[in-house]
Amino acid sequence: QIASLLSEEMQPCMTLDGVEISLMANVGLPDEVNQVAKHHLTGVGLFRTEFLFIESQSRPSFDSQLHVYGDMASKLIGLPMTIRTFDLGGDKLPPFLALDEIRNRSSLHLRGLRFSLSEKNLLDAQLRAIVQVAQTTDVRILFPMVIGSHDFAQASEAVDRAVRQLDVLRRPSVGAMIETPAALFALDEILALADFVAIGTNDLTQYMLAADRELSQGTDDCTAMHPAVLRAIQQVVEAAEKQQCSVCVCGEEAGDADFACLLVGLGIRELSLGPSRAGAVRHAIRHISQCEARRVADSALRCQSPRQVQQLIGTLRSGKL
Ligand code: PEP
Ligand code: MG
Repeated sequence: QIASLLSEEMQPCMTLDGVEISLMANVGLPDEVNQVAKHHLTGVGLFRTEFLFIESQSRPSFDSQLHVYGDMASKLIGLPMTIRTFDLGGDKLPPFLALDEIRNRSSLHLRGLRFSLSEKNLLDAQLRAIVQVAQTTDVRILFPMVIGSHDFAQASEAVDRAVRQLDVLRRPSVGAMIETPAALFALDEILALADFVAIGTNDLTQYMLAADRELSQGTDDCTAMHPAVLRAIQQVVEAAEKQQCSVCVCGEEAGDADFACLLVGLGIRELSLGPSRAGAVRHAIRHISQCEARRVADSALRCQSPRQVQQLIGTLRSGKL
């Protein structure tokens, strides 16, 4: 079975009825970019850049970031890489910033994009490095924890500023992470400004269900398979389709074979996952039809609990529909 999984890695990730799903890598360290070729992925869907800030005693310079991003992009030889700007705050704080301990250690104070906009110089340096690398490679910019069009517009303006300061021609694609309930209520406005969106199911589940993403692991009722989270994903897919915006799912659950099949049924065509999960997800998707997955997803949206959803997926994957 391992041998057949290995040869399957070379096959396109396509459902039985011919719908192609793009599988990309979530990476958190530069070396992990090598996993893209190893697992025959179509690029990096989420590069978490926090390590550059958390592990450094001083502000990472423009040059040092240019080196990291440029090196990674060149190793991808033409494949796209989505770089997420630093998603700091809560327990992820850079040692070089003199921050108010108590306020900032709260996971619900300065977080994600709100934190970035409060550290303008830090954000601007990162954006300049990304924009510079994007002149010669397929690099995209993703902002975390967007809560509406107001903060996303400021982020987007910061990208314009970087383009102007560098005096370059190419403005890279700019996307918003949809991972807060607020973003769900501002979808149309965000989509009007975004080139693409990425759904972060880790935080979206945490904040929709008021369930700590670390502590609720193993709690059957608090997973991304909760019907409320599925309905949120469906809303994003529908709204993005209207505005012809691409949607990727990049939370950990994208690497769960059952959940990935459900996402395909909900209309998702791009998944970004932990590279080691790619084989199992590709295998699962190659053995379902999108048409049947859609029927199951329609029923899942009407379920009352994650457990019922899980049972439905069981029928899809066993072919006993
Ligand atoms: C998410 O929240 O689902 C996500 C992909 O971002 P992170 O896990 O880095 O918060
Ligand atoms: Mg997140």
